[in-house]
Amino acid sequence: MICAVDATSRRRFLAALGLSTAATAAACSGDDDGGSAGSTGSAAGTEDAQSRPDVPEVPPDPGIGADPFTLGVASGDPLPDAVMLWTRLAPEPEAPDGGMPAEDLQVLWEVATDDDFEDVVATGTGPAPLDRAHAVRVDAEGLEPSSWYSYRFRIGEWTSQVGRTRTAPPAGADEPVDFGFASCQSFQSGWYNAWRDVAESDLDLVVFLGDYIYENASQPVDPAEGVVRPLGADNDEPECTTLEDYRRRYAIYRGDENLRAAHAAAPWLVVWDDHEVDNNYADLSSEKDGVSAEEFTARRAAAYRAWWESMPVRMPPPEGPDLEIDRTVDWGSVASFFLVDTRQFRADQACGDATFDLSPACDEVKGADRQFLGTAQEARLIGGLTGSRAAWNVIGNQTVMSPLVVGDAILNYDQWDGYPEARRRLLSAIDEAGLTNTVVISGDIHVAGVGEVQLGDGAGARTVATELVGTSISSDAPIPEDLSSLVTELLPWIQYFDARRGWTRCRVDSGEWTAEFRVVDDNLAEGQPVSTDATFTIRPDSPGAVPA
Ligand code: FE
Ligand code: CA
Repeated sequence: MICAVDATSRRRFLAALGLSTAATAAACSGDDDGGSAGSTGSAAGTEDAQSRPDVPEVPPDPGIGADPFTLGVASGDPLPDAVMLWTRLAPEPEAPDGGMPAEDLQVLWEVATDDDFEDVVATGTGPAPLDRAHAVRVDAEGLEPSSWYSYRFRIGEWTSQVGRTRTAPPAGADEPVDFGFASCQSFQSGWYNAWRDVAESDLDLVVFLGDYIYENASQPVDPAEGVVRPLGADNDEPECTTLEDYRRRYAIYRGDENLRAAHAAAPWLVVWDDHEVDNNYADLSSEKDGVSAEEFTARRAAAYRAWWESMPVRMPPPEGPDLEIDRTVDWGSVASFFLVDTRQFRADQACGDATFDLSPACDEVKGADRQFLGTAQEARLIGGLTGSRAAWNVIGNQTVMSPLVVGDAILNYDQWDGYPEARRRLLSAIDEAGLTNTVVISGDIHVAGVGEVQLGDGAGARTVATELVGTSISSDAPIPEDLSSLVTELLPWIQYFDARRGWTRCRVDSGEWTAEFRVVDDNLAEGQPVSTDATFTIRPDSPGAVPA
């Protein structure tokens, strides 16, 4: 029991970390609920420096027989006083039952200020239910703001690896944030060099903008064709359609040690894109023709369920095929992250969902009632943006907002370009509110870019937001690398374009945003270096990025 740790040794440890006992002191009597997963937990208060929360008994192992923590640990959605913690018990991650007994279990979770868990500040037991494939989701509450913690899970003799996570600054605090954003990690298309770099980068936060898994069936391994490793032990995975398929797909991806390391290094904010369900799906329309709404509804329900089980996100479980994932995460007074979903509520792609078609866009695309965020989410986003007093408003979205057009031709109807009225409504709201501090971060297209997001066109166009498009972690680019200069020449609102793999690092304080585009030269090989290709800065009073 941690209350027994004597005050002197605790003070000595905290002094070594440069922390005062007053700042981290705790009470044994904390007894609030651990959150959305229905766990029970206790957290330290701030009054009594003499005592710690009671650490419950480690729940018994019913005979698991091998290390159940093969999928690592993760954390996310930090608040000033809480963070979501995640793990899943699966000694055989690719087996339908994960290699687990068919019963509901409990695990112990612990949050400490030290790696040896001598100073546990919040702890409890949380459910690992059978109907959730023994995924564990805990909202660890009662933490101190702006603080780093270690966390772990235990059952019987088994203990997970130690994860590192942190809380957000207190409301109103002017504290910088050093975060990375990333998207699109097709497991077979390349190695996770970029995740290793993320894990080693001492970030406060990682924002993941979707395509965590790809739903496709296994492809034959052939590095010459850009397929570098098997998907699953036998490389015979079907296209995901059932809950079992999607669960196994997340388990296969988490088999990569660099991905696990990135999760264990910092809290994440996660949203999905299309491939967590089906390429380019829209609402209840599958990519493929001839799939009934009934069939696709069941598939989307399975996919959303598996995503929710697998991610450290703070939200109630999906109700059938529906799950609202849009939310706002505040980082003191410096940044508000508005995370949105551009798949679940959108109208079907216009003009046959053509890509790289150089004929003028068809009239359908201009329809005023073509939703992209859906009316309710759009209203929440606009209300949040216009009410925000943060130095920066960050829209964490999936698809590219800057136009990718040639004359009247739209090159990709799946992007914001395919929903011009929805885009105009959002940008008008930002403009009318006089906001100059909006940064849109995007993924999906597997190339990196910097853009000026403009309202109006031609001579009347004016920039109302800055867009940073992050490239893919590993998914292959749709465009040859040597077209980069052509893109920036043809599209004057695009200042940077690069078709290599990587991620984007952002160092943000209240006066300046610095974005570094990290790239991997050869991502078809393991153990490759990651370097900065370009650096841009943005100021909150003037949308548009300039080279640093
Ligand atoms: Fe992708
Ligand atoms: Ca995508």
